[in-house]
Amino acid sequence: MPNMRLFKSTNTKVEVFLRKNLFYKGFRYRLHDKRLKGRPDIVFPKYKAVIFVHGCFWHAHEGCSISHIPLKHSRYWVDKFKRNRERDHQVYQWLTNYKWRILVVWECAIRKSEFFNFDELIDFVSCWLKSGAGSCEVSGNDELPNLNIDIKCKVEVVRY
Ligand SMILES: [Zn+2]
Repeated sequence: MPNMRLFKSTNTKVEVFLRKNLFYKGFRYRLHDKRLKGRPDIVFPKYKAVIFVHGCFWHAHEGCSISHIPLKHSRYWVDKFKRNRERDHQVYQWLTNYKWRILVVWECAIRKSEFFNFDELIDFVSCWLKSGAGSCEVSGNDELPNLNIDIKCKVEVVRY
């Protein structure tokens, strides 16, 4: 069995980096809330929103330069990735049923993007949280999603 710890620790660093920056922006959150299926990485009860920081390798990010199937143990990895994806989708379904909004931030959006820098990413996440926009994902391989919230972002957040 390959060394799992190696892959997991990388993703934890990326996640900590993101959530520290959101904390500085004034957002408060819970981590890995066990009451929610899939134990989302960052939970924002006030905004009824969760963020998953997905390691591109671990969650088999399609078309991503960080993600690849290792040559060694390739059969093992193909099965593993398939199960991971299926589990992710069950989790999204469950959370959506309970009216949680989901933002998936792929590791490559934080580590390397040709389309935006880290400050722009943090601004985007901040807008997404406050705007009440629907679930979406951010990848380093694409531009930031258009939330159509240019106006909404400027107004005060509705309190729940
Ligand atoms: Zn990726």
